[in-house]
Amino acid sequence: MKLEKYSLGIGDRFGQQGIAQLEALIKAKKDGVEFVPVWNKSNREHQIIHSEPKDTKVEADAAVKALQWDKPYYVDADHINLNTVDPFLDHSNFFTLDVADYIGSESADGDLEEFLKQASPYEGELQIPGISKPFEITHQMLVTIARNFLGAVREAASIYQHIAEKKGAGNFVAEISMDEVEAAQTPVELFFILMMIKYYGIPAQTIAPKFTGRFNKGVDYVGDIARFRKEFEEDLLVIDFAVKTFDLPDNLKLSVHSGSDKFTIYPIMGELVKKHNKGLHVKTAGTTWLEEVIGLAMAGEEALQMAKEIYRRAYERRDELCAPYATVIDIDPANLPIPSEVEQWTGKKFANTLRNIPGHPDYHSGFRQLIHVGYKVAAEMGESYLAMVRKHADVVGDQVRTNIYERHIQRLF
Ligand SMILES: [Zn+2]
Repeated sequence: MKLEKYSLGIGDRFGQQGIAQLEALIKAKKDGVEFVPVWNKSNREHQIIHSEPKDTKVEADAAVKALQWDKPYYVDADHINLNTVDPFLDHSNFFTLDVADYIGSESADGDLEEFLKQASPYEGELQIPGISKPFEITHQMLVTIARNFLGAVREAASIYQHIAEKKGAGNFVAEISMDEVEAAQTPVELFFILMMIKYYGIPAQTIAPKFTGRFNKGVDYVGDIARFRKEFEEDLLVIDFAVKTFDLPDNLKLSVHSGSDKFTIYPIMGELVKKHNKGLHVKTAGTTWLEEVIGLAMAGEEALQMAKEIYRRAYERRDELCAPYATVIDIDPANLPIPSEVEQWTGKKFANTLRNIPGHPDYHSGFRQLIHVGYKVAAEMGESYLAMVRKHADVVGDQVRTNIYERHIQRLF
């Protein structure tokens, strides 16, 4: 199973928007931009929503059938590890092996020495084709990289083998992710991580490093854009060189766990992958759920009341709801609109406050991030929430399509 050049990870917390999401990709395809869909959902999301991996597969199959999508599609067991992967095995064909927690862990006996032996020819000046200045590689640097990443890549190999035993190698796509950490990995580190991936025999097709800057959920990139550009381009060239040098899968590509809405860097990513003729996987977060709330607000009346109720409850429980997402959100509580004020808003005002249109006078990133992590509130509303979303499927679906197509895909390409 070989992942196509461009793939888009689409999250859908409540599993209602598969068709609207796929319609956005069909629209892009008509414009000549071909992304294959990857429906991604993590174990954490399933637990909060009380959904199961099977539900994501059912949703994807239904959307593909309804729209007669004749290209490949994937269901991603997102951010799994050995403890959480099993329930996904029968329903996923894409696995994001999350080994961030293993960075800095002890490596196996003998592996460190063997890695250093294999890496030592790169000591001195490492020239990557396309990168003007060679990297200076010292022995000490290799030791540090090995101590940081060997244990993590070994863990990825264990997860990979576990999946391969059950599904058969070749029947799924493996991604290795190290993005949920504080420190970004440098292009040099990426090069040696890829060497380790070869050493441990993982046929990874995508890799998700942590990039420089902040990738908060549902809002734009925060960081040094020039630095991101340089790092992203060097990562592309490093991958290209590593694929040839280590004989890794030739479609190996970067995966950007964008958290959605990285509007300022999407055009940079698109420009650079085209320039170097490389593939790209862009994973978006479950922000489709925000489009559902926007749609409810726009539908007015009881639906608008429900949107306001969701905000009020999320506001009251903000500490609890934000805690699991502390590293990927930035909300100033003092700056949040108070629910009694929101109660007075029109549906349009509510929608404009929540919808991410950069520079729009009503847009409020704190409001958006709080509702983003507040999906637990809607999950607790259960069937009444789902029924409301279904009742207003037209206006909601419109929001979902426009968001993916105009604000994401059109900014990328
Ligand atoms: Zn991630």
